[in-house]
Amino acid sequence: MTENRPEEKTYNVLPGPRMGLVTPAYLEEIAAVARKHGVPFLKITGAQRLAIAGHSPETAAKIWQELGQPEGPKKPVGIHYIQACPGKAWCKYGRQDSLALGKKFEAALLALPLPAKTKVGISGCQFNCCESYLRDLGVFGTTKGWSLVFGGNGGGSPRIGDVVGEGLNDDEVLSLARRCLDYYSQQARKMERTGRLMRRTELADLQKYLETPA
Ligand code: SF4
Repeated sequence: MTENRPEEKTYNVLPGPRMGLVTPAYLEEIAAVARKHGVPFLKITGAQRLAIAGHSPETAAKIWQELGQPEGPKKPVGIHYIQACPGKAWCKYGRQDSLALGKKFEAALLALPLPAKTKVGISGCQFNCCESYLRDLGVFGTTKGWSLVFGGNGGGSPRIGDVVGEGLNDDEVLSLARRCLDYYSQQARKMERTGRLMRRTELADLQKYLETPA
């Protein structure tokens, strides 16, 4: 792959998909557009999205147009992505339906204004294939329901998130996640990730906030 890599063409296009779900028709559409523009390769990203790489910014604009999508993503803050594993719908280890919960999280949280980039990982069991302990908001399923983790981070400043709720149903975990994000919005400095906030403050303060009726 590297010998074909263009020297000055690194612009990426990420036309969905959400939670890594794609249909054969979607892949065929992407493949047709990629062939038309001589795109050398596609990349499945760590965020379960699809990158069309190795072309110019001008071509990127055409690709967005042909796919009928607005140019992007250009969202520096707020929910950056919501990952979800196959969960109990498709995985033999799954204890909860992570894809269904992911859709509920998308509907409820995706548009929220937040202090900085915020990543969400939803895993259907304690194996945590979506690295829920390393996400700003992480969720994983057990036989007793969902557990919610807050303040995790990977990358150059890793932090294991704190478990703030256990044995929750869909509505409860969504409500608690929303409360965590409210706390984050109130307490964080501009562009401060949840992990940094939790290093700077006390976990007890968050717990006290979550115990207070909304
Ligand atoms: S986290 Fe569990 S349910 Fe999800 S893919 Fe991994 S093993 Fe399967």
